[in-house]
Amino acid sequence: MPNLTDIAIIGSGPAGLTAALYAARNGLSVTLFEKLMPGGQMNTTPEIANYPGFANIDGFSLSEAMSEQLAPLGVERVTAEISTLTREDSAFTLATDNKQWSARAVIFAAGASRRKLGIAGEEAFIGRGVGYCAVCDGEFFKGKPVAVIGGGNTALEDALYMAKLCPAVHLVHRRQEFRASRILQRQVLNNDIIIPHFDLVPLEISGDKQVERLTLQSVDSMETLVLDVAAVFIAVGSIADSHLIAPLVETDAQGRVIADESCQTPVPGLFVAGDVRTKPLYQIVTATADGANAAMSASYYLEALE
Ligand code: NAP
Repeated sequence: MPNLTDIAIIGSGPAGLTAALYAARNGLSVTLFEKLMPGGQMNTTPEIANYPGFANIDGFSLSEAMSEQLAPLGVERVTAEISTLTREDSAFTLATDNKQWSARAVIFAAGASRRKLGIAGEEAFIGRGVGYCAVCDGEFFKGKPVAVIGGGNTALEDALYMAKLCPAVHLVHRRQEFRASRILQRQVLNNDIIIPHFDLVPLEISGDKQVERLTLQSVDSMETLVLDVAAVFIAVGSIADSHLIAPLVETDAQGRVIADESCQTPVPGLFVAGDVRTKPLYQIVTATADGANAAMSASYYLEALE
């Protein structure tokens, strides 16, 4: 079998990078597949203040540190988007359009992507003022008023990031209270640049060539409010990137694969780790914990095969 590796890891966010660390340190051969660059959603996080050992670090630097830690361990790194995964005779075949790899076990850690709102103008203005990553695109709107939509940790972090660049940041939430952590809520409510708008749902994003306006509607009175903004950053949750293995496993409404702490799926030798797995808390620290658990479960599985 060509290129047979003990463990193939799909996805190189904190879960995939940690799985590679634990599996390689356990003496297994590891091939780590990454679509673009290591880090996953961590790369879009401007400040991380709740990862133990780092009082404050940006997501890109933490990704780099995790990635560099693998360098002496002989992990094979492949930049490729795996498009099919099949299992036959207790081995997996991973394939792109023009290449195949084989693995005795697979850890699927593909993470999650930002959910779309589905309102008028959203699709049409993607890249012209509609964005899903303030850290990636925020700089383009320096000095201009912008809006951020959502009430979770991501939305509040995005609003705080944009408040360093913009004269006004409208933070639009559909309820009366944010869902984000208390500490982020305090920072937002004490920030003079951020203007919170509660009980309002976004209706339409409009403009000429670029975004110029965001129309909102009150959930109580149904009255509309128009904000003049140059950009709208949408942070209304995420959808798990589980499509590759969805036919093989059970998923919840957000596409997350149902699996317990062992990270084992019903398919022997297939494990899930990180935001793609159902769990009570979605954090970098729980993603890295998944990576360690999945690697050890995969190691025990391979030992049992022998
Ligand atoms: P989230 O916690 O699911 O929050 C999504 C927000 O979007 C909610 O406030 C939700 O409103 C709102 N929303 C959803 N659909 C909407 C719609 N159609 N129109 C308007 N608003 C809508 O998502 P997240 O902020 O991306 O966070 C995802 C996970 O990662 C969470 O578990 C979070 O704790 C974690 N995370 C942690 C950190 C950190 O610890 N620093 C940072 C980022 C993310 P409702 O509140 O009304 O449902």
